[in-house]
Amino acid sequence: MTASTSPIADNLHQVRVLIDAAATACSRNPKDIHLLAVSKTKPVSDILLAYENGHRDFGENYVQEGVEKIQQLKQYSDILWHFIGPLQSNKSKFVAEYFDWMHSVDRFKIAKRLNDQRSVYQKPLNICIQVNIDDELSKSGVAPSEVLPLLKEVSSLDRIKCRGLMTIPEASNDIDHQRQSFAQMQALFNQCKAIYPEFDTLSMGMSNDLALAIEHGSTMVRVGTGIFGARDK
Ligand SMILES: *Cc1c(COP(=O)(O)O)cnc(C)c1O
Repeated sequence: MTASTSPIADNLHQVRVLIDAAATACSRNPKDIHLLAVSKTKPVSDILLAYENGHRDFGENYVQEGVEKIQQLKQYSDILWHFIGPLQSNKSKFVAEYFDWMHSVDRFKIAKRLNDQRSVYQKPLNICIQVNIDDELSKSGVAPSEVLPLLKEVSSLDRIKCRGLMTIPEASNDIDHQRQSFAQMQALFNQCKAIYPEFDTLSMGMSNDLALAIEHGSTMVRVGTGIFGARDK
């Protein structure tokens, strides 16, 4: 299979078309919306197909799986690896050592460990604070009211660079509810940006809700199924 005929190449193109249309529909510049390809559970051969089509940002949810793939693809040194799953503190050193971004920081303890474990020979680790916008028991993330206090603590750490906020809203068919959650995130992001002008990342939107997320200011959509197809459970 050549890159140009693989479904992954087509899918990537289709997703990019959707992103561009969603951005244009709300008068945003499509270039301001980054696409993170979520490759969890998918083989490195799939990542390489996306790579051959010019894609460079990949997201992984599980530490061991992610590190194995990063090691296997070490020669592709321009790939940027994003950790987007929940992280146990005893595994933070792997994220600090191997990843470029960490989207799911939800407590100071994790931020501090990542900071202390990040080598001075590496660039600072880019992080986002994960916000549990729908207050779901099953999800990690801080409550909206805890974001600014956590940011204040995190801003003292010099081996990590806080780029913005991340969220995974409640899965729902109720578009008004989804809209409300995204709007709350947008307001919170703007509030943070007023204090931290270097904030440039609102990591929000997945395969099924990316247009709505873009309408509410998302700067990075995380797309798995839409690019790589359904995952085996
Ligand atoms: C799996 C996952 C995604 C991608 O979800 P799709 O619906 O397959 O696009 C995005 N973000 C996070 C945090 C994920 O765990």
